[in-house]
Order: sequence, then structure tokens, then C-alpha cells
Amino acid sequence: MHLQSLKLLPLTGLLGLLPILTFMTEGCARKGITAKLADVSESRIINADREPGNWMSYGRTYEEQRFSPLRQIHDGNASRLRLAWFYDLDTSRGQEATPIIVDGIMYFTSAWSKVFALNAATGALLWSYDPKVPGRWGVNACCDVVNRGVAAWNGKIFFGTLDGRLIALDAASGRRIWETLTVDRNFRYSITGAPRVAKAKVIIGNSGGEFGVRGYVSAYDAETGHLVWRFYTVPGDPSKPFESPILRRAASTWNGQWWKLGGGGTVWNAIVYDPELEQLYIGTGNGTPWSERFRSPEGGDNLLTCSIVALKVESGEYVWHYQQNPGDVWDFDSDEDIILADLTINNRPRKVLMQAPKNGIFYVVDRTNGTLISAEPYTFINWATGVDLRTGRPAESAAARYQGPDPTPIVPGPLGAHSWQPMSYSPLTHLAYIPVNDVGFKYKQAGSFEARQLAPNYGIDVIAAGMPQKPEIKKAILAGVKGKLLAWNPLEQRAAWTVERAGPWNGGTLVTAGNLLFEGTASGNFEAYRADNGEKLWSFAAQTGVMAGPVTFEAGGEQYVAVLAGWGGVFPLAAGEVSFASGRVANISRMLAFKIDGSATLPPLTPVEEARITPLANPANSVIIHKGERLFQSYCAVCHGDVAVSGGVLPDLRRSSALTSDTWFKVVLGGLLEAQGMVSFAKELSPQDAAAIRSYVISRRNQDAHYDHSQGVQGRP
Ligand code: CA
Repeated sequence: MHLQSLKLLPLTGLLGLLPILTFMTEGCARKGITAKLADVSESRIINADREPGNWMSYGRTYEEQRFSPLRQIHDGNASRLRLAWFYDLDTSRGQEATPIIVDGIMYFTSAWSKVFALNAATGALLWSYDPKVPGRWGVNACCDVVNRGVAAWNGKIFFGTLDGRLIALDAASGRRIWETLTVDRNFRYSITGAPRVAKAKVIIGNSGGEFGVRGYVSAYDAETGHLVWRFYTVPGDPSKPFESPILRRAASTWNGQWWKLGGGGTVWNAIVYDPELEQLYIGTGNGTPWSERFRSPEGGDNLLTCSIVALKVESGEYVWHYQQNPGDVWDFDSDEDIILADLTINNRPRKVLMQAPKNGIFYVVDRTNGTLISAEPYTFINWATGVDLRTGRPAESAAARYQGPDPTPIVPGPLGAHSWQPMSYSPLTHLAYIPVNDVGFKYKQAGSFEARQLAPNYGIDVIAAGMPQKPEIKKAILAGVKGKLLAWNPLEQRAAWTVERAGPWNGGTLVTAGNLLFEGTASGNFEAYRADNGEKLWSFAAQTGVMAGPVTFEAGGEQYVAVLAGWGGVFPLAAGEVSFASGRVANISRMLAFKIDGSATLPPLTPVEEARITPLANPANSVIIHKGERLFQSYCAVCHGDVAVSGGVLPDLRRSSALTSDTWFKVVLGGLLEAQGMVSFAKELSPQDAAAIRSYVISRRNQDAHYDHSQGVQGRP
């Protein structure tokens, strides 16, 4: 062991670590190897099924099926699952991370890119690391200050930070070994995705497709942090040399001056390694802005946006791509998790990848060459009638590109029929398990476009997209907002079973050889079902919305199931009242671990009844209020909610005490709350603008005071 590094541990951390070290030393002595924490290698991940008690990479194996061979917990005893331990976090922002468990230690990230190492059997803290992301970088995150996890390799723990750094920590002590900036901070890049490690290279992408960045994925040497290669997903300025031959070809599918707006195509989530073919598969996002009028005015496919791209792992060279949405205009990112599998299709063994991206279609692709095998809608969609298997192109509906003067309702919308919440696949049931969102969006072209420094600009009419304030219309819209857990047969491209949820934005899934399917819900439960037929077996009141992907592992000979609980992400931040469909529960960031006959209990919640909103005097005229509406929907709604209704993660401005004081201007223009992520908007908003936004928020408060909304009961710990 590295005793020197142990000396640096705080006493509490050391005490927590001691039993693990003893366990490790004994275990390793038996195997005749030197003890090193998080000693993950390529061969260990490839042979992960030989040590199913560990969960050594994001989707457990390189195939990222999120299937565990563990069967100590099974469909016959799952009803005896109880909380084994929990660990509370110091944040109430979104929790999206999948933990990694190696040899009795759990490593994971929380909001603001903080890292934690816990004793996996007890939840005791071993160490934590705060990369001190500046609060002001929060304004560059489209979808909350989230992070989806770490990677482990050769004694190190790797993670990306919201402000674009890639950091390697010593797995034993949590001390930083190296740190590198992966982005140009003159642009509004962020990192929320988990890195993967393959061939001793740490692979990391980034986000910012709504903020005018150019997408790419990078590979760094795991030992030194030096850049090995970088692959850009969209072409840059064509007057300069292209970084790779495919970008020359891609440039012919764009027109206008797209590079001045960045292009988009960000690799914000899916990065999967295929050790057999020594290829990476990455998912790319939308072009920027969403509207092609301002991005590539004469149309074009805009390669390689909204695509799955195969790259050689050693060099980052392009191998093939399959574009799911040529010339996307809906924010249908292809960044959702990709699963690799070997399937028998028409009596022929095929190496495939499977993906259920935002656009609502389940794709099975031959991963040796990118050929589309099958593609069918996995839920209701109206933007296309299907996919032409010969060309791979979708058959778009006539109105799908929203060229008319009126807003066009499209299903799904930018939330996606499925987003980053990981799906799983069981080689035993041959089913994929997908958390599905059924929610549309009203798209209308904006009349003009200008890039903003402090807000996203989608190139669409943000007022047309807002929730109407006529109660009957609103009721009809909300009635159509749904979610479900879907078990999908990829061979037959049809549903095997479904579980209806209260609303969208439920958790990622885990499937086990014990015939169990685990999922958390937006309405505050963590549940187990029979994986083969969807029979509900167990439910735990988690006190908070659960979005992240669960894992299972062994510690001290016992099987555990764990999930990072906590509500947030783009849905409660941006969707306003629509996000209430899923149920309004408290927001508590916490790691939960369960085992058979566990004996821990959560502290009770104190119910909090939200007070009714009362009207305020609003001297502004309708012109000012309308100006405030446009500015609110452009600058504020991305975090404080559509038409000023907060989904419960960030402050509900209708209820802000600053509405009646000068504090409003100190916050909006003076940066009073910058450390919490609320920057000064003085660079782009004048005092008159800030006053107009306030008048709009007061007008919304008064509307809602008039209609009375029972806002439900929330709780606090
Ligand atoms: Ca996007």
C-alpha cells in the first residue's frame, strides 16, 4: 500500500479505510498480487464477469449493458430488500452519476463535479475532492450543474468538471495527480458526462450545443494527462485545413457560415469502447442553433450532428458514421447511452449496437460497418412515420420542420423520448429497459437570430414555446405529459411490457441475473420488477426524485443495490409546470444502498405546505410586461422554468422577496449570488431590461394568484 499517501488522509477517512485495507491485503495476498486501490485494467474490464461483485466502468462492462450476473438478490427475495446505508451530500442540485465500485470502495460524483469515495459496505466516507468549479460557470450549463460519474484505471479516478477540466485523482488518497483543461474557455463548453478509459487513454467529450460550441471528443494519456488525439464532429472554417478527411466531406453538407456559430454536434454523453474491434462509438448532439435557417440556411445534412460515429481508439481516426437525424431542427441529440451486444438476427450472428435516442426511435446498427439493421418508434412520435432501412433516413412528417407561422406541436420535444438516464439490456430476457418520456413541444421559427453570451439561443420563438395561461388549454397540455418504464424487444422491435409512470424523467435502469429490473422514479420511489414480465416486487420511499442509473455489487460477501438519489437536470429546471406531472417531492441529494434485511432508516421528512401566492402591485404597462416575457423566456427560463414556474430545484421567482426590493437588481445585474451559480447579466441586460423581467414575473405571480394553484406538498429533511 501507499503508506505515504495514507498519512495525508484525515483521521476519519483513515478509520473508514482500515477495514477495507485489511480486506484488500488478504484478498490480494491470496491472489499473489500487490494491493492497489482501483487497480482497473483493460483485461479486468473485459473479464468483468469473472468478478461480478465489482462495477468497474460506467455501464459495468465495456458493452455497457448495465446487466449484472449477481443473483444473491432475486425475484424470490427482493421483497426483503431494505436500506443498508445512506450518505447525504452537501447539494440540492441534480444527481445523475452512476457509481463505480472496485474492491469494496465506491467512487462517484455529485453536482458541481465533486468526487466521493465511500466504503461500499458501510457508506463511510474515505475521502472527497472538490475541484472548486466557479459558480459563474453554471450559466454555461444547459441542463443543471450535473455530472454523470468517474472512470477508474490503474489506481486513478478520472472525472470531468463543469468548467471543462479533466482530473486524475489517486484512488487511495483522493489527492490530485494531474489536471488538464480540455476546452477553450473563450467558448461556453462544459462537461457533464463520465469519462471512459480504453487502451490506457481517458476519453472525454463535452457539452454546449445550445451555446455555440464546436463538438469534439478527446483522448488523454491516463498516466500523464497529455492529449493523444482529438476528433471534431463538425467542420470548422473551410478556409483553414480540415483536421480530418471526413470533415472535408462533412463540410459539403453545410452552407452559410456555420463555423461562426460553432456548429454543435457535441459528445456530451455516450462514449462506448468495443475491445474486439478496437473502436469507440460516440453519440453526437444537435447542430447549433436548433433552427437550420440560422445554422445552414439552405439545409443540408450537417454532418456529423445527431449521429453515431465509430473511431479507431488508438488514433481517433474516423471509421464510419450513421446519422439518425439529417439536418436536425428539434434538438434530437444522439447522445443517449449506446449498448453493445452480439445478437442472432435472421439466424445470423451480428455484432450490433443499440440506442434509443431522443427522437423516439430504437436503432439496431451493425457495429462492424455502421449499417442500419432495424429502426422502429419505441413510443408515440409525430415528427416521422418511420425510417427507410435502405437509406437509413427518417421519413419526416410534412409539418415536422415547422416552417409555418403558427407553433407546430411535435412529439417528442427537446426533452427527448429518452435522454441520458441509462437504459439497460439483459442477455437473459433479451429485452432493453428504457425510461421513456412522452412530452411534446411547440416549435416555431424565430424571426431573427443573434448569439448571446449569457443565455442559449435556439433560433426558435421562445414565447410560442411557453405554456399558455388559459386554464383549459394548460390542462389539456398537461394531460398529455406522461412517462413509462418500457421493456423493449430489440429483435422484434416491439414492447414486451410497460409500467406507466406519473410523468417523465424517471431513473436509469439496472437489470440482473436474479430476474430483477431496478428503476428510481421522479415521484420519489426506488422500485424492483420482474425483468421478464414487469411484475412489481418491491418499492422504497426514497423521499426524493431519483434519476440516476442504479448499480449492484458485492461487499463482504453480500450483494448490494445502490442508486444516487436527488432531483434536477433539465426537466425541473426548464420545463416549468410540465415538470409537476411527475409528482412534487422533496429534493435530497443522497447515495442509497440496499441489501436483503438491511437495517438503516432515513430520517423522517417534515411536510411543507406551500403558501398560496398573493398578488403584488404591478405598475408596468403591457408593452413592458411583454418585453419582460421575451427576455425572461430567453435568459431566465432555462434555469428558473418556463413562464417563471420553477420545477423546485432553483428558486421560484414568482415567490421571490426580491420582487419588491432593489435586491432584484443586485442579483440580476450585480452578481450578488454568483457563487451559487446566478451570474450578473449586466453584460447583456440593461437596468430597464431587468425591470421589465421583474414586471413580467410579477404579472405571472398575479395570474397564478388569481387562478389558484394548489402547488402540492413538498417535504424537507
Ligand atoms: Ca442538445
